[in-house]
Amino acid sequence: MMQLYDQFKRKIDYLRLSITDRCNLRCIYCMPKEGLDFFPKEKIMTQDEIIQLVKNFAAMGITKVRLTGGEPLLRRDLPEIISRIREIPSIKDISITTNGTALEYQAQKLKLAGLDRLNISLDTFDADTYRRMTRGGNIKHAMNGIRTAEKQNFKMIKINTVIVHGENDQEIPKFIDYTKDHDVNIRFIEYMPIGQEIDNWKQEYVPLTDILTNCQKRGLEIKTIQLPGNGPAQNYKVTGYKGSIGLIHPISNRFCDSCNRVRVTADGYVKACLYWNEELNIRPAIYDFLKFKETVQKALNNKPLNHEMAMTNTKQIISPAPTWRHMSQIGG
Ligand code: SAM
Ligand code: SF4
Repeated sequence: MMQLYDQFKRKIDYLRLSITDRCNLRCIYCMPKEGLDFFPKEKIMTQDEIIQLVKNFAAMGITKVRLTGGEPLLRRDLPEIISRIREIPSIKDISITTNGTALEYQAQKLKLAGLDRLNISLDTFDADTYRRMTRGGNIKHAMNGIRTAEKQNFKMIKINTVIVHGENDQEIPKFIDYTKDHDVNIRFIEYMPIGQEIDNWKQEYVPLTDILTNCQKRGLEIKTIQLPGNGPAQNYKVTGYKGSIGLIHPISNRFCDSCNRVRVTADGYVKACLYWNEELNIRPAIYDFLKFKETVQKALNNKPLNHEMAMTNTKQIISPAPTWRHMSQIGG
């Protein structure tokens, strides 16, 4: 079996594939206030192209696939996409990242289609804060989605919580308390400067370093745990709680050394790194495996050692070429 490596000999076995740039929310850290023009339909890869693309990657050593967006549940053919990926023998793990607002109606279908795991984004338990942070979303839809998913016996549910200064940082204890009775992994994520105005970002960025201190101050006993296939998160559990928490600090504790990811955008561009502008159009090569392999390898030969998001915070020179895309156009 072929294996994929980048120029620094990091093994790449995880594909993050965006299947749409469209979204029903407008989260403050993800999209600009004025909104985005979504790609016209013909710019988005079709279901057949997506399946062939995943087959090609599987033949190159990819074993894990995450479907993301935009909001992946906005694609009506998501269950079919999942069940067709499920039929590719060497793909061992299929997951999605979703805002959860449509899960109440779709979680069961996705489970039946063969979805293994999901990450659901939720930044607050407060209806007003949710409306503000998502620019108009209704928290009931997200909570109903989470509760429905929790009943479906997925291998793992993770809740992605981006911490934004002055918006939801006060709610960190509530999220930790949620793991008392819910078997989920809350992943606290640092707010990344992707497609953002830098000054604005700096004011809202919160390093995650004090989350554990917060637990200790409250007298909670926490221990480090290992979760299978958990990428860059450091994971902890409060003694006696059902769930766990994870810290993802791309800025304050860069984890690029162990990066095993390659990304493809909904319009068919392969991106070796979330942060940089480098991307190659892979769509014309989907039905030509040799060209496909060459294009992917070319992208990975340019995969940088790390991103420079930390430097944005320390006033060092920022690279002239961070990505032009907003997070919703990459997939996270
Ligand atoms: N719509 C889906 C959702 O929200 O889960 C999937 C796409 S979204 C771009 C994927 C993840 O990226 C979400 O968990 C979201 O919170 C996170 N995200 C978006 N913008 C971010 C930023 N600037 N910094 C950190 N995380 C971000
Ligand atoms: Fe949409 Fe997800 Fe971005 Fe929020 S984070 S605007 S839900 S793509």
